[in-house]
Amino acid sequence: MTYIQGETGNWEVVIGLEVHAQIISKAKLFSGAATDFGSDPNSQVSFVDAAFPGMLPVINAFCVEQAVRTGLGLKAEINLVSVFDRKNYFYADLPQGYQISQFQQPVVGRGQLVLDLPDGSSRTVGITRLHLEQDAGKSIHDQHPTKTFIDLNRSGVALMEIVSEPDLRSAEEAGAYLRKLRSILRYLGTCDGNMEEGSMRCDCNVSVRRPGGELGTRCEIKNVNSIRFVQAAIDFEARRQIEVLEEGGTIVQETRLWDTTRLVTRSMRSKEEAHDYRYFPDPDLLPLELDPAWVEEIRRALPELPDEKKARFMADFKLSAYDANVLVNEKAKADYFEAVANGRDAKMAANWVTGELFGALNKAGREIEDSPVSAADLGALLDLIGDNTISGRIAKEVFEEMFATGAKPGDIVEKKGLRQVTDTGAIESAIDAVLAANADKVEEFRSGKDKLFGFFVGQTMKATQGKANPALVNEILTRKLKG
Ligand code: ADP
Ligand code: MG
Repeated sequence: MTYIQGETGNWEVVIGLEVHAQIISKAKLFSGAATDFGSDPNSQVSFVDAAFPGMLPVINAFCVEQAVRTGLGLKAEINLVSVFDRKNYFYADLPQGYQISQFQQPVVGRGQLVLDLPDGSSRTVGITRLHLEQDAGKSIHDQHPTKTFIDLNRSGVALMEIVSEPDLRSAEEAGAYLRKLRSILRYLGTCDGNMEEGSMRCDCNVSVRRPGGELGTRCEIKNVNSIRFVQAAIDFEARRQIEVLEEGGTIVQETRLWDTTRLVTRSMRSKEEAHDYRYFPDPDLLPLELDPAWVEEIRRALPELPDEKKARFMADFKLSAYDANVLVNEKAKADYFEAVANGRDAKMAANWVTGELFGALNKAGREIEDSPVSAADLGALLDLIGDNTISGRIAKEVFEEMFATGAKPGDIVEKKGLRQVTDTGAIESAIDAVLAANADKVEEFRSGKDKLFGFFVGQTMKATQGKANPALVNEILTRKLKG
């Protein structure tokens, strides 16, 4: 358990996250308007989204399917009957004067999510619920000195609000939760998880308590838009609460903001209660009833998800939990790895993919989808090592060239004459030349300076431009020096 040390002893941080995930769907939750990101303001607004009098919402079945698919992916209960409620509040970018959401009867109930922790261990966190709701429009304050503009493109877009139990115990765990949730949503194709574009937003509920004690009063930090900020906001907020409590104060339940320039949380408003919203079932919408056979059909069509893929990689390819985590976190990475590993030494494939390839992609700021080295070409490179055409060391050089130019490994080896020298005669004569040129060092070696062995290996490799087969160099040197 990770505790925070205060002036008066240890404190435990308790965190529950509410994630708003925008559903991947061409049309909105209750209207046929488009949902493309970055379109001209107010170009994707139907009369329903603008709340013209007399307009009626019509549920988009595909959005429901996406929510059910997500629920199944989170191993959650699917509620065959759920209800849409009106959550009433006034805001300039909410023309209806209420948001259609789900309150008492959400479409998805309890589920779970497995955290993959940096030390390779894992821990299960409870999901409380997932409900469907519509997004609000957007107020734009920075285009005019005295006016605010309203863009209703986002108004009515389908969101899933995914609520966790207060099971998280550190900022790192909150980060691991969000990464895993994003990974699952992307595998399922239900949300693109893009936090910069706002298609995944997070409210962090934070409280502190003495280890194992009663739950403390929570504060909620609204709409944090990156995992890094979520972690920083939690750390700041936990320390702030500890300070207040240690000075004899009390925590008031409130909604706070994360200030991205000063890196502090600030009070925004006192916490609203459910009754403030005067929730009631939306009379324009019937209860949502799902056909169990339809739910089953969605379940059967679920893709292999990260947890199962990880288990399979560990069992079939004998990978460590750590390597498997790195590889399954994005489906494209897992697919790439599998293509390289199939029919080859899987551990070696994992090392090359997570080490050389991911390192190079990272440095170049590229995604796996636009890797200049294809899985087939990386596989071909490993085959050249496997059949002793080149050594592992030369292979790294070849890889760099492949990454820079997109050339095939075989062509690079031929063009640059990098074929490994396995001809023992050639290696022997190179070694003889090295030993003759360093007679003094040979003497020192024979009188006990064992460390010089490495020097002779190095000189031989240098003399052969790194192309001598290292195992043969070792063998022949040993025979000549010690024999
Ligand atoms: P609200 O909409 O009022 O914020 P929700 O039930 O939607 O209420 O969400 C409450 C969130 O706060 C959940 O993620 C839950 O795990 C979390 N939470 C509840 N109690 C605590 C607590 N004492 N400390 C930290 N988080 C908490
Ligand atoms: Mg909340």
